[in-house]
This record gives sequence, structure tokens and C-alpha cells, in this order.
Amino acid sequence: MLAAAAAVVLLVSPAAAIVPQVAPPPADLGRVADEEASVVEVLLADTAQLDALVATGVDLDHDVTRTDSGVVAHAVITPNEAAALTAAGFTLGNAVHRPGDARARVAEREATIAEHVAENREFSTAATVADVSDIKIIRADYYTSGTSQVLSVEAKWAQGQTATNTLTVARDSGPGTEIGSGGTQTISRFVDAGVYLYHRGASLMTSRPDYVRITSPTGDVAVAKVREWLPTPDTSPEGPGYQKDFVTSYLTPTELYGRIHQLAAAFPDLAEIVELPYRTNGYRRHAQAVLGTANDSRIAVDSLAWGHQGGNDISVELANPGAANAALSVNVTGKAIRVNLATDAAGAVTSTAAQVVAALNAGAGPLVRAYTYRGSAGTGVVAPAARTSLSDGLSAPASVSRDPQPVYAIRIGKHRDGSKLGVLAYAQEHAREWVPPLVTIETAERLLRNYAHDGQTKQLLNNLDIWIAPSVNPDGGHYSFYDFNSQRKNMTNHCPLTGAADYLGRNSWGVDNNRNYTEYSLFDGYSGASTSCTSGTYAGPSELSEPENRNLDWLAARPNIKFSMNLHSSGNYFMWSPGAYAVPDRISAPRPTLAQESAFWGASARILTSIKQHRNLAVTPARTGPISDVLYSAAGNSGDMLWYKYGIYAWNFEVGTEFQPEWDEAHDETMEFANGLVELMRVARSFDQDNTRPESSMSVTPSAAAGMVNVTFGVTEPAAVFYTVDGSAPTYSSVLYGSAGIREGGETLTLPVGTEVHWFSVDSAGNVENNYTADGGGRNYRKGQAVLPTG
Ligand SMILES: [Zn+2]
Repeated sequence: MLAAAAAVVLLVSPAAAIVPQVAPPPADLGRVADEEASVVEVLLADTAQLDALVATGVDLDHDVTRTDSGVVAHAVITPNEAAALTAAGFTLGNAVHRPGDARARVAEREATIAEHVAENREFSTAATVADVSDIKIIRADYYTSGTSQVLSVEAKWAQGQTATNTLTVARDSGPGTEIGSGGTQTISRFVDAGVYLYHRGASLMTSRPDYVRITSPTGDVAVAKVREWLPTPDTSPEGPGYQKDFVTSYLTPTELYGRIHQLAAAFPDLAEIVELPYRTNGYRRHAQAVLGTANDSRIAVDSLAWGHQGGNDISVELANPGAANAALSVNVTGKAIRVNLATDAAGAVTSTAAQVVAALNAGAGPLVRAYTYRGSAGTGVVAPAARTSLSDGLSAPASVSRDPQPVYAIRIGKHRDGSKLGVLAYAQEHAREWVPPLVTIETAERLLRNYAHDGQTKQLLNNLDIWIAPSVNPDGGHYSFYDFNSQRKNMTNHCPLTGAADYLGRNSWGVDNNRNYTEYSLFDGYSGASTSCTSGTYAGPSELSEPENRNLDWLAARPNIKFSMNLHSSGNYFMWSPGAYAVPDRISAPRPTLAQESAFWGASARILTSIKQHRNLAVTPARTGPISDVLYSAAGNSGDMLWYKYGIYAWNFEVGTEFQPEWDEAHDETMEFANGLVELMRVARSFDQDNTRPESSMSVTPSAAAGMVNVTFGVTEPAAVFYTVDGSAPTYSSVLYGSAGIREGGETLTLPVGTEVHWFSVDSAGNVENNYTADGGGRNYRKGQAVLPTG
């Protein structure tokens, strides 16, 4: 609002300087009946020209403003009339009111009348009136995705926790049409952990609606204007000759590290490789076998040496001696272990699993460790078994190291000394997610290879300190490529010998690296992680138990890092904190402030618009927002650690639609999300350059309560508002204006009529409205009285 008003004022003076001599007006300005009219400024040199304008018979509203350089009048004209006025020598300024604006007013009016009807209905029976409808439309987003047109609607209904009704959304069929003429769609309750959050739903359609209306089951009404989600921008941020498309195949972690080493070598002035402080446990395992089939007679055997260091050469045979009254014994020849089973007088085998385990540990102790199967007492008699080789089950070529793996990041920027604003991107916490690492590589390539000839890229690298870790879980990544495609976790076996530590459990081992961090974790009582060593979301034995997680903690602790992106797949989600809640009652990790949330949303729109520019893929509004609002709780995830522990604006991509899509699709996903990741760098740069002080406004509306009014604040950019209502000067210790609720805007304060409200706003870059010194000593804070506007 403030910005729009300022723009109108600014336009007057320079334009007025070019007011021409006005020719005699035509008798008929040529209004065509079915044209729509707008209110347009007419810029006049003096009152004589105003008289000439009046003489044309043009439809003027009452707004005539005298300025230093002339007169500005407002004419209500159609396009034909505008052309006639221009031809007659008049100079037109801004359109200050368009047909669509009128319809917006009509819709607002409709909603207001509906509220009043509801109020009056209650007023007739009670001393108080309902303040608002029981239904509130949070968002109504129209967007294109691929070749489809979609309308996504989210609404909160006061009865939503207990009543299970779907809600019906009525659409118009475009500006100026009746609501309902565009058909209807239903939206359904979004309930998570037993808690109703809001109704949501999206439907395909063939024309863009302008307004939607929901009538709640109680008869209350809400009307909202449809916004366009991720409209196509007029310009591309990529300058002429901008180079992209550097990735031609999936890359294993070894190849990813090779690639960033090559890049750093090629651009030594702009990049360097940083080995993170903790090596992984390594792409390596002990060689194992499980002999037998019935659980109480099974024997599990593990080599003491790693498989690649001799364990794979070990074999075990459970031999029937073929003689009566044989004793149990173990022979070791080189790495061949032969167990001679005991027999009875009839020559039948009598050795139990527990007895064979004891004999193996006694007779082959330097080579292997044996144990009964998953905690069994091992009372079953074992079955003889032919010679069985132990195996580590790893089939990667020798080019993949079996040693503890150094984890690498590439650090990009002209000044890599911590003096510049830091941005962190990291991928492959989850091993099977093969596209996200490619997004980081493509991004690194774009930044480095465009530096020399693209001015904007040069500005990014000259002013940012960019850390990119393409694979934080290389062991799991290698395992996913070579052994078990669906591997999600790292390769560390935390299962006990009485559990799933044996060979048959090997594809279930590992810690979910995105559940092993320190904030709002399983260990803190939060939901969405498991204590089971075989669970897909195993949180590990303790916070930061894993080297992968300690590496990320180290990266996040770089003090200049203020923005981050955690790249995952899949689902085309774009999310931020909070990412966890505790059950029952769904107690969320602290929500960002209203200002922080609007900063998240604002940057998100930029990043998602860049993604969409590749092939019109729209990350949907329903998949944009705090993790725990749009997806699920994920206790101990990295985004939450970065946000809550380090104050980093931390986002999460969920790239694409599957973990390992066909290459053409993987390539497109890489290109589009690299667009988004590069845009994050631009967001960071904008933040760094933000010297603009926010402006705020207070609006007052009637309250249902006697002697009270409702007060809300608006700001021109994402900014926090601190306020007092006791006449004192506001400071950073004053009350922080908050959010009305999940995915809603600012709260409504209900204050006694006449309350003196003092406030100021401050953006996330620290710019304070009016340059107010918010220590209580300054006087240039904003002041207002909580009274209804007159008129
Ligand atoms: Zn993931």
C-alpha cells in the first residue's frame, strides 16, 4: 500500500513537464459499449487545460490534484477514449484503478456483507456478534504446471478438528464473472498426528478463475481473490551467453569428488577443495555367512578382518563325520574352517547351534566370531553344510576405496577467508537419491564457468563464500550404486549380535543421516525417527554419532554461513523449519516469526520461479512450507539443526518424482533444480545488499467486543514489528507481532478503542524503519491510535 501510493506521487512531477499544447477536443471520445473503463491520470499544465479536458465531456472523478508543475486529474476512460484523448494532445499518466480492481472491491463487499449478515444473525439473539466468518481462505493459487492449469485452495474451518466435512470451493470463470460460473471443486481436511491443520486440495481447470468462495457447512462465507503462483517473469537472470548443462550421467560419490577436484584445479583462483574433518566408516564390511535355515539351529559367522582384507577368503564347512559317536571339533587349514559335527551311537548328528558356535569361537577365534541367530538359544541340532565362503557382499570395483572415506566439499568464491556471506548446499544424506548430487555439481559448474564472462555470476562469486558438498554420505552412496539400489542410510552396523547384525540383515543397517542431528531429535522426544537399527529412519545410538553428521555440523558452524540448501529427492517439495513435532498433541518445534516466515516465503517464490523456468514445472503451494506443515515430522533432521542451532535460513529441496529416474528425466530435474540453487545464491546476494529500510502501516477495523477495535500491521518487505500499547517507546524487548496461525498472515490484536500504539519494523538484514534507534531512547518510532478510520 505504501509503495503504491509513493509510486503515484513520484510519477506526477516528471511527466507533467512534457504536457503539450492541447488541440481542440473531438466532440465524441468514442466510448464503445462493451469496453471496460479504468481510472487514469491525465497530466495537465494548468487549469486552462483542465477546463479543456472538462469540455471534452470526459468522465472525471472528483480527484483533481494541484502539484508544483501542474494539475493531475483522474478520468474514467476506456481504451478507445484514452486513444482519443492522446490524439487530442492530452498526456495520460498511471492507471490508478483498473476493471479488475473493481471486481476485487465487489468481492470484498460480498464477503463483508456475508460477515455482517452472520453478525446480525447472532446479534439478534445475543449481546455480542461474531467477529469473523468460521471459514477463512488461507490461499487460493492458480498456476500452470507442464501444460496443465491448476487451482490450489487452502482454507481453515473453525469446526475442522471435530467435523469431517469436505468443503466446496466455487469458482468464477474469470474477471467480472459470477462466482460459481467456473464450476466447483472440493478440498479435504489435512490432519496430521491427529491434529487438524487446514483443508486443502487442487484441481485441474481450463480457465483461470479470479475469485473463489467457500460457504461453510454452518452457512458462513469466505471469498478470496485468486493469486498466480510462480508467474512467468519477463526476464531471465541469466545473461547472454550464460553456460549451463554440464552433467551428462549419474555420478557415484567417487566420481562426484573427482569432479569437484577437477573443477578446483581448473579454477584455482575461485575454488578450493576442503576435506571435512571426519572420515566415514568406509565402504567396507566384515565377511559373513549364515548357515542353516531354522532359526534355533542357524549359525551366524563374521570374519574379524574386513572382507577386502582377507575376510572374503574365509570359508566354513559343517561336516557330518559319517561315523558314530564322533566328537565336535574344529580344524583350520589356512582360511578354510571345517567343523566336524558330533554324532550319536547311530551316527546321527547331535551338535546344537549353541555348541557349534562355542566350538567355532574356541577353535577359529583368530579368524571369525560366531553367534546364534538373532538371540536364539541355539538349541536346535545343526544341519551339515557344504563349504560356504564368507562374503562382505560388496561388489563395487576396486576403484572405489574400501578405506574410511574422506568427505569433500568445494568452496567457491573470490574471497574464501570467511569475510563474505556464506551459502551452503549439501546433498546425498540419503544414499539412493542420485539426482540431488548432480544438482550441486551443475551449480558449481555454472558458477565457475560463467564467472569470466557473466557479470552477475562474477558479482556472486566476488561477494559470496559458497560451500558445496555433493555427497555427505558416500559410503551409502556407493552401496546404492553397486550393491543395493534402495539404500537410504549410511553403512554403519549398529545392530547387536542378538539382533540383525548378521549377513541377512545387511541391507537394513545404517543410520538415517537426516535423523541424527542435535535439534528436536528423537533423543529430545520428537517424532519421526526410530530407535530400531533396521528402521529406515533409525536415529542412531546418539545425536551426532555418525561422522557424516559431525561433518555437516562442522560445516554449519562456519560463522559466515547464513543460507543453506539440503538437497533430497523426491516429491518436488520445498520446505523449511520447523521440521519436527512431538506427539501426542503435535507440539511443534518453535515456529519462525512472522517476519522470518515471510522471508522464507519471499525467497521461496524466487527460487521456485527459477526452477519453473526450465520446463514449467511448478512446485506446488501445497508442497511449499515448513516440513511439518506440508510433509511430516522428521526429528533430528539437518535443516532444523542449521536453523535452530546456527540461525541459518535452511531450506530443503525434494527433487523430482523418484530416486533414480531414467536419464532424460534426471537431466531435466538437474537443470531445473540447479536453476533454483543458483537463485539461492542470488537471494543471498540480495540479502547482503539490502540497505532498504522497511516501512510499516497499522490498520484498524471494527471489533465485535464493546469498546474494542481490531488492529493489524502491514510491512513493505519481510520485517518484524515490535510494538507497545502502554505509551512507552518500543524496543527489541517489546512484543513481537506474530502470525495468526499455520500458513496464515499476521495476527489480529484486539485493543481498547483509543489505545496509543507505538511500533517499529526491522528487516532480517537489520535495517530499521525510519532509522530508529530501538533502545527506547529514540523518538522517531511509529505512532498511531487504535481508532476506526473516519469516513
Ligand atoms: Zn532424502
